[in-house]
Amino acid sequence: MNPHKRYTITAALPYTNGPIHIGHLAGVYVPADIYARYKRLTGNDVAFICGSDEHGVPITIKAKKEGVTPQDIVDKYHAIIKKSFEDFGITFDNYSRTSAKIHHETASEFFTTLYNKNEFIEETTEQLYDEEAKQFLADRFVVGTCPKCGNEESYGDQCEACGTSHNATDLINPKSAITGNVPTLKETKHWFLPLNKHEDFLKEWILKGHKKDWKPNVYGQVKSWIDDGLRPRAVTRDLDWGIPVPVEGAEGKVLYVWFDAPIGYISATKEWAEREGKDWEPYWKNEDTKLVHFIGKDNIVFHCIIFPAMLKAEGSYILPDNVPANEFLNLEGNKLSTSKNWAVWLPEYLEDFPNQQDVLRYALTANAPETKDNDFTWKDFQARNNNELVAIFGNFINRVVVLTNKYYDGIVPEPAELSEVDKETLATLKAYPNVISSSIERYRFREASQELMNLARLGNKYLADEEPWKVIKEDEARTKTIMYVALQIASALATLSEPFLPFTSNKLKGILSLSNSEKENLWNDIATNDVLVPAGHQIGKAELLFSKIEDETIQKQLDKLEASKKANEIANATVEPQKDTITFEDFTKLDLRVGTILEAEKMPKAKKLLVLKVDTGLDVRTIVSGIAESFTAEEVVGKKVTVLVNLAPRALRGVESQGMILMTETPDGKLVFVNPDDAIASNGLQIS
Ligand SMILES: [Zn+2]
Repeated sequence: MNPHKRYTITAALPYTNGPIHIGHLAGVYVPADIYARYKRLTGNDVAFICGSDEHGVPITIKAKKEGVTPQDIVDKYHAIIKKSFEDFGITFDNYSRTSAKIHHETASEFFTTLYNKNEFIEETTEQLYDEEAKQFLADRFVVGTCPKCGNEESYGDQCEACGTSHNATDLINPKSAITGNVPTLKETKHWFLPLNKHEDFLKEWILKGHKKDWKPNVYGQVKSWIDDGLRPRAVTRDLDWGIPVPVEGAEGKVLYVWFDAPIGYISATKEWAEREGKDWEPYWKNEDTKLVHFIGKDNIVFHCIIFPAMLKAEGSYILPDNVPANEFLNLEGNKLSTSKNWAVWLPEYLEDFPNQQDVLRYALTANAPETKDNDFTWKDFQARNNNELVAIFGNFINRVVVLTNKYYDGIVPEPAELSEVDKETLATLKAYPNVISSSIERYRFREASQELMNLARLGNKYLADEEPWKVIKEDEARTKTIMYVALQIASALATLSEPFLPFTSNKLKGILSLSNSEKENLWNDIATNDVLVPAGHQIGKAELLFSKIEDETIQKQLDKLEASKKANEIANATVEPQKDTITFEDFTKLDLRVGTILEAEKMPKAKKLLVLKVDTGLDVRTIVSGIAESFTAEEVVGKKVTVLVNLAPRALRGVESQGMILMTETPDGKLVFVNPDDAIASNGLQIS
């Protein structure tokens, strides 16, 4: 039935210029981990591969800004990212890095093979050059207008607004990101992969071969790429950070980060195989291996067109069976953004929610952006925890374990004859491994997580309907049967929850005293074995699997985001352009004086207005000021202020205002007094 002997599962190499956030977890790493864990549980040979992507221009830009070396940057973030993956139970068989020696060798060899097979076009072209920085400007060193969508801040290699990938010379109005200068064109030699040459193969393989089994969002994007016509893509760059191009006359050039990064999957597999004493080649070269790339939608072109073209050109590799790319996850209605700090960072999450990795894994899976962009909200996170994990899963397990301990000292009772309901319940239970498998095999992880919850629902309903706590008063044999059936469901949940809720699964196996993985095919045993946990088996004491998350906890997270929003508004506030020039005579018409607020009261039925009595040195006068939303009346009494005293009086809500107090407004809308230094200035002094 299953034609695949082994699985090579890759997850997109995270870029090492910052920590990772919930968007990465939801889009790539949690689904990939669910898949890998599931494949292992069903008795398969799995290599689950990932690593840090440590080359490319943004890392060199960050290093320059911080006054450190690119190596410092990647060392720092590689450690942080690796720890986050471990903390969240992502079970990579190897987490490598592209600065590793084995990767440099593998990528270099790969290039050489293609070079010797004449798979590249060598071309001297004019590239953008920054005369001041004395440097060619590739990729992110150039910013300009996207030729496709008009986004004015498109990068040289890719527009983040429309996802189009292009060459830096395609940009309209290009500018150097290093100096801001308009770049000139200068000749340089590079190697190109002629994607157009592989167009027929790609059409046949993807458009015909994978029309039915690739996700519509992935297939659609690939089709539009191919329909637009493929062009040669440069695979080298003028840069001093990366893998040197292994060809004579290529000094000062490195492999393009998008050429070397996917080869990182291969080198990470080699590194793992070496460590484990295995042969790496079957995982990449045997037709009975299933290769699956888990990525986000911004990587579709590289994994579905460029990398397969590279593998095909090399000639000895298999191609991916599927590339189940996810769409993007938003946060509370806004796009996740590292620079705007609009994110939930994994290290921070663990500080705020210690030991609650599974809650985040579950919330992200249940709401995963599988077919369209989706929104993570803290309210949904709370609801998933309180209404599903606590109220259904946790509640069922707790009742089973508590009652078994209470009635039978924790020993699984011997069942009497099974009723029709018992038989039906056990038959439904047996179907669950296949139901969940079927969703996972089609990369529908949200659906799979809901089916898992449905099994917990089945258990909950069974106990609620059969009411062992009532039956025990009249029928001991029947109670034993009910508890026996409920324990079978609990035992199935311990195994079937592992891919989704690994920490909980582990804890539950401990509570039920189930040995972890003696048998090879735990998952399928549930479908075939009549007895999952036998009568006479001793279980442990109850422990809470999940706990309720209160509104205050959620509010704290929302407040944190609100603070980020405020900080962004302040950082992005635009300074008003200068007004038209006035003469000195114009200025001297303004009579500005130092004054003191003596009294203040709120204007009735007006949200913004305070009625002030101000000592201007000339007189004490009434001024109506629109500051009530920023200050209370009590706060402003005694305040030194700057007053425009010769402004024509005007009536506000029936009160005549005789002047104006000078204020400024911060970007987040708070008013601030423009006040004279109160120690020196006395009321009535002129300001000029
Ligand atoms: Zn664009």
